[in-house]
Amino acid sequence: MKSLALIAHDGKKPAMLEWAIRHKAFLMTKNLVATGTTGARLESELGLSVSKVLSGPLGGDLQIGALVCTGQIEAVIFLRDPLTPHPHEPDISALTKVCDTYDVPLATNVATADLLVLGLQSER
Ligand code: PGA
Repeated sequence: MKSLALIAHDGKKPAMLEWAIRHKAFLMTKNLVATGTTGARLESELGLSVSKVLSGPLGGDLQIGALVCTGQIEAVIFLRDPLTPHPHEPDISALTKVCDTYDVPLATNVATADLLVLGLQSER
């Protein structure tokens, strides 16, 4: 089974956790992979089981991008904070690029993430 990838910038981690609480039943049916800090918070605060890669600034975004390239990701929820500069912006751009290259669904805000859940649920 392919995994659902979850990433949230620091300014969006509260939004990610709130989103994940609303969709917890759905998320429990999925293989989850997340960048380090996002994944650790989803595990400790929601009790979800998450496979964690490195933290985003340390290359985690690129690791998730590599999983996209090798066909292991069904969708990416990447709650970006567009108002804060990030030193690893090139890695963030690379991840969004491979999602578009491989036609993997990518939600970058909560509204789209909600719609993505509806779409993935209707696939069953
Ligand atoms: P983090 O990484 O979940 O380890 O904070 C996210 C990011 O900054 O891309």
